[in-house]
Amino acid sequence: MSKAYDTIIIGAGIAGCCTAFALQQKGQKVLLVDRSSVAASGGSGAAGAFVSPKIGKGSALQELTNEAYEYAKEFYPKYFPKYFHQTGVIRIPKDSEDAKKFQAYEAFNTSKYRWVNKEELKTLGIKNAEESFLFEEAGVCDAPELCNAILKQVSFRQFDVLSLEYNDNHWTILNVQHSTLNARNIVLATGYQNTLFDMRYMGVKGTWGSRGDYYSKLKLDVSMHKSISVSANINGIIKIGASHVKAKEPCVVCNGKPLKGLFKTASQMVDTSDFRLKETFCGMRSGSKDYFPLAGKVIDAPFMLEEYPAITRGAKPPLKHINNLYVCNGLGGRGFVFAPLMAEWLAESIVDGKKTDKRVDPDRLFLKWCRKL
Ligand SMILES: Cc1cc2nc3c(=O)[nH]c(=O)nc-3n(C[C@H](O)[C@H](O)[C@H](O)COP(=O)(O)OP(=O)(O)OC[C@H]3O[C@@H](n4cnc5c(N)ncnc54)[C@H](O)[C@@H]3O)c2cc1C
Repeated sequence: MSKAYDTIIIGAGIAGCCTAFALQQKGQKVLLVDRSSVAASGGSGAAGAFVSPKIGKGSALQELTNEAYEYAKEFYPKYFPKYFHQTGVIRIPKDSEDAKKFQAYEAFNTSKYRWVNKEELKTLGIKNAEESFLFEEAGVCDAPELCNAILKQVSFRQFDVLSLEYNDNHWTILNVQHSTLNARNIVLATGYQNTLFDMRYMGVKGTWGSRGDYYSKLKLDVSMHKSISVSANINGIIKIGASHVKAKEPCVVCNGKPLKGLFKTASQMVDTSDFRLKETFCGMRSGSKDYFPLAGKVIDAPFMLEEYPAITRGAKPPLKHINNLYVCNGLGGRGFVFAPLMAEWLAESIVDGKKTDKRVDPDRLFLKWCRKL
């Protein structure tokens, strides 16, 4: 049995879900595929999914993150309001030294914000805090529920994609049930896992993380981030996250106590006396070599290395891409902030032929990687 699509998206985390949604919005016939039956089984399932701006001294990554934040805070309430809680997010300095830096950061707050002084922080239920920024339009997504809601709006099939073939202007995936799926385009949104093509030049690496959901009756109307994040109380649940562990393996041994440190820090921020653990979540974030997202075409790395061996010594031949193969990945610790805009940009490039924004074009990493071989 054979089925044909415009685009098959592999990976149903937030990157793949948003890409499928954006392409479908542009009129494409799409299929979303994941090896798991439940959306968000990868990093997206573990995410606290806070959607807030990045603060700092105006780096290029901060600028892009905040462009993506502006887009995301409109996208979720517009299309999936049930799974986005606009609680506001308070950015709290780590200590008095950090508080001094906030004065310098203020000039680079391009999103709507206001200062919150120590007195107001206390009335909001926040302990031990220096004067902070409140981003009132920021919020928190229900990560798996949101991915599942997107998934319900597009065609979805569950299986592990083991290999892909490109012949006669289309891609073919043979799945385990031996039915054949064809598509003009493939988008790889596989998170930290990539066994399908040689994409080492993108330098995708995993950072392991845990978060916990706690039952609580604490009145906490606003979410916050200090060195860790604590959500507002949403329907009797408060989320605490997240740890960061550099990892090569898909599962990190956590001694059964992944949340101990997080809970201790949260207890210094809010009153955790009635908190009762509901569930622990663990997953892998995937970051690129330069921490910017990856949304664009995939270079045919084996071809380039064989055809132009001088590329490893600084030659700059024209780049050859694999036909109709795209990636949406490298969203790091801010997948829920980046995914809607990256998906939109990728859809504009696939459907409308729009040029890829240089900051997220994976091509940026290729020649540098070759020179290091
Ligand atoms: C503990 C934790 C807390 C976080 N908190 C936040 C936060 O507050 N805010 C925020 O914005 N981000 C947060 N993140 C980051 C965010 O979760 C990630 O950036 C995001 O989930 C990445 O999504 P993704 O779709 O790229 O990858 P994933 O969610 O990992 O999805 C990849 C999918 O691809 C599938 N797949 C891979 N290979 C194949 C194959 N061959 N065939 C079929 N399927 C395949 C996998 O099964 C998986 O479902 C957090 C992450 C963690 C771990």
